[in-house]
Amino acid sequence: MHTCAICGNSELYKKKDFPHWLGLTILTVACLGSIIPYWLYHQWLTWAILIGSAAFDGLLYLWVGDVVVCYRCQAHYRSMAPSGQHKPFELGIAERYRQEKVRREELQSQRREKRE
Ligand SMILES: [Zn+2]
Repeated sequence: MHTCAICGNSELYKKKDFPHWLGLTILTVACLGSIIPYWLYHQWLTWAILIGSAAFDGLLYLWVGDVVVCYRCQAHYRSMAPSGQHKPFELGIAERYRQEKVRREELQSQRREKRE
């Protein structure tokens, strides 16, 4: 797979198929969970929770697979094994597509205004 099946774009990037909310939830739960034993002067338990959640986070990160994403339409391809040509996300390329999208929307709104 070299191009996006939806928009035909050939620039794709790979990223970890790891939802941000999950990482944040683990972090929040770990922080809140470690406050209580901290108040109760159970330092070892505080550390166990913090280190345990960090280790869990790391394991989860290793366990989840990669997902290939299209820069233009943000389509996600999970079944596709990322090959060497799929590079990690680059902000410069994403910015180029973001500006392309803005221009396209401007053109569409201009066309719409002319019609009305
Ligand atoms: Zn696409």
